[in-house]
Amino acid sequence: MTAKIIDGKQVSQEVRDRVAKDVATFVGEGGKVPTLATVLVGNDPASEIYVANKHRASEAAGMRSVHHGLAEDTPQEELIELVETLGADDEVDGILVQLPPPPHIDPDVVINAINPAKDVDGLTPVNVGLLSAGRPGLVPCTPSGVVELLDHEGVEISGAEAVIVGRSNLVGRPLFNLLLGRNATVTVAHSRTADLAAVCARADILIAAVGVPELIGREHVKPGAVVIDVGMNRTDDGLRGDVDFPEVSEVASAITPVPGGVGPMTIAMLLENTLTAARARWPQPMTRDGEA
Ligand code: NAP
Repeated sequence: MTAKIIDGKQVSQEVRDRVAKDVATFVGEGGKVPTLATVLVGNDPASEIYVANKHRASEAAGMRSVHHGLAEDTPQEELIELVETLGADDEVDGILVQLPPPPHIDPDVVINAINPAKDVDGLTPVNVGLLSAGRPGLVPCTPSGVVELLDHEGVEISGAEAVIVGRSNLVGRPLFNLLLGRNATVTVAHSRTADLAAVCARADILIAAVGVPELIGREHVKPGAVVIDVGMNRTDDGLRGDVDFPEVSEVASAITPVPGGVGPMTIAMLLENTLTAARARWPQPMTRDGEA
């Protein structure tokens, strides 16, 4: 079998187009232009590129974006103060603090300071709790991008045996809750899992979010499984996923490439979260002069 290659770039563009249309409708009904505020501490070149891409994408979707760049040695208290100010600012609908911060800043303290209603990364304890309780909230972007890809491909999630390799707060754990919420039977594997290949080989849907290049090989994959590779590993041979793509694409029915699979979905879902946050903060259509 040669697997179908799932085109994350195309699906991402479809989501962005959908969001742009929904933003236009929301604004046309009197809603305020959704506004994303980003915060970056320091000058890490990769983080600067990620943030710039987020601004470009939000503006292309008809949203506003505001950036706050802080010096590398900014004290934690100053960052928290900014995050709290943004949380209280009526002009701001979404807050994204680019992670990881420099080592003198505790990311958990920063995340805890984000207003949960504007937490477009879905990382605050409130949104984590809502997701695990199966209640509506803001969901982390990469995991929701994975589900969007599965839906786009028409993969039946309900009743499927899903295995996630990786249990990070950013990917594995929220994905567990999303797939459970969609009635999959979900197993989460990690570095202490005994016989990883046997666990993975049960999966109808196998998701690798590990950070180990090409860990998942043919022996991990049930013939016909759908394989989603979240991994983004910089190696001497270039960017590699967690899945051995040439080998696994011979047994899977569908597979995401790296790059061009899950990667492009994250920004698309960020735009969707920003619109969701804006809508939730203005539940009533408003007139143009701001009165309900
Ligand atoms: P992480 O926080 O480092 O977590 C990695 C997880 O993999 C941990 O749960 C770890 O287990 C598990 N693991 C490590 N080695 C393993 C092994 N040999 N066998 C089984 N499990 C193993 O990583 P992350 O933030 O979730 O990211 C995972 C990958 O996805 C990375 O390559 C990252 O770059 C990529 N990523 C991509 C996007 C995107 O496409 N936009 C977004 C986020 C992350 P323990 O818990 O036992 O340590």
